[in-house]
Amino acid sequence: MRVLVINSGSSSLKYQVRDTTTDEIQASGLIERIGEGGGGPANHGVAMDQVAAGLEGILAQKPLDAVGHRVVHGGERFSEPVLINNEITRSIERLNPLAPLHNPANVLGIRAITAKWPALPQVAVFDTAFHRTLPEYAWRYAVPDSLYRQYGIRRYGFHGTSHEFVMGRAAELLGIPVPDFNAVVAHLGNGVSLTAVRGGASVDTSMGFTPLEGLVMGTRSGDLDPSILIFLQRQGLSADEIDTLLNRDSGLKALAGNNDMRAIVEAAEAGDAHARLALDITSYRLAKYIGGYHVAVGGAQALVFTAGIGENSAAFRALVVDRLGALGLKLDAVANLERSGSPRVVSTPESAFPVLVVPTDEERAIAEATAAVVLGTEQR
Ligand code: ADP
Repeated sequence: MRVLVINSGSSSLKYQVRDTTTDEIQASGLIERIGEGGGGPANHGVAMDQVAAGLEGILAQKPLDAVGHRVVHGGERFSEPVLINNEITRSIERLNPLAPLHNPANVLGIRAITAKWPALPQVAVFDTAFHRTLPEYAWRYAVPDSLYRQYGIRRYGFHGTSHEFVMGRAAELLGIPVPDFNAVVAHLGNGVSLTAVRGGASVDTSMGFTPLEGLVMGTRSGDLDPSILIFLQRQGLSADEIDTLLNRDSGLKALAGNNDMRAIVEAAEAGDAHARLALDITSYRLAKYIGGYHVAVGGAQALVFTAGIGENSAAFRALVVDRLGALGLKLDAVANLERSGSPRVVSTPESAFPVLVVPTDEERAIAEATAAVVLGTEQR
């Protein structure tokens, strides 16, 4: 199948055309500054016209079979990818308050495709869906039930498409059937999240009601005492200011002056104390969570690293695994330094369980899920 994968942001639109049979990427691109003037497209409809114009050459040979959308928030309703119709689009739109930066843009992307290619099947693949298997004791916050009933305040978790894809590849590499697989998966990119996988299902994850909770990220603080927010508000900061502070101006950027792991490792090696501390805080907090999730899954059969930092930073992986001696983990220094685009083991045979690096590919996962939904629907 030839699938157009769309990742629509508020002012940007990333796309790829994938052949799901050969796994070939046939086209890809990024359109930026949507609705911001200055030569950018006026809206998502105009952006989609630009995508279509860019694809004219390859579509002349063979048309698209389907479109797969990355949708950030699927709320409590969506536990798997779905074929989009008007009712589904409105449901995604009703989740806008839970993901005010993302879902409105996803809906604009869906509507722009509907307007352009009304007959083309579209599938929504949700970033939250993999975490719909969390037990209630993992998704509940210890606050009055009315907050859940009135506002939907609970843990949802994100990066689900990546966690599920990576978990599947890791199980395959180890020759363990997915329903028997227990693992801790660390998605370490600009956004960072950890997932506890038990029997192939997500049973806990570090991001919560929003992607702010949990680990230290590129520009996000992760966990902190919630009283700090109240304190800051009493100091006169507005909700928007606190939002910007914790989502855009915190994390590695605040600790080390930038959010590029390569630069931070280099600075630390050159003796920069801020960079050193940033790495200590980040690796320490991640190691603590990994220890907790080892318990959550009833004993992990693998620790899996993925995404920009997880796949590429041997130095950061070493910092984390060095803190996990209590779990009996031992990194193979040579294997850890090897660069490769393939899933691989980076621990020694003496390690209590293997440490893996598995490259993520959210576009591939979305394309495959889209093809599966469309084929499944046709067969019915
Ligand atoms: P996003 O969440 O934006 O998709 P990525 O998964 O691309 O992010 O990860 C971005 C992070 O990966 C950055 O901190 C970047 O410094 C880091 N990174 C990318 N390549 C390397 C590398 N070769 N070595 C160390 N860190 C890397």
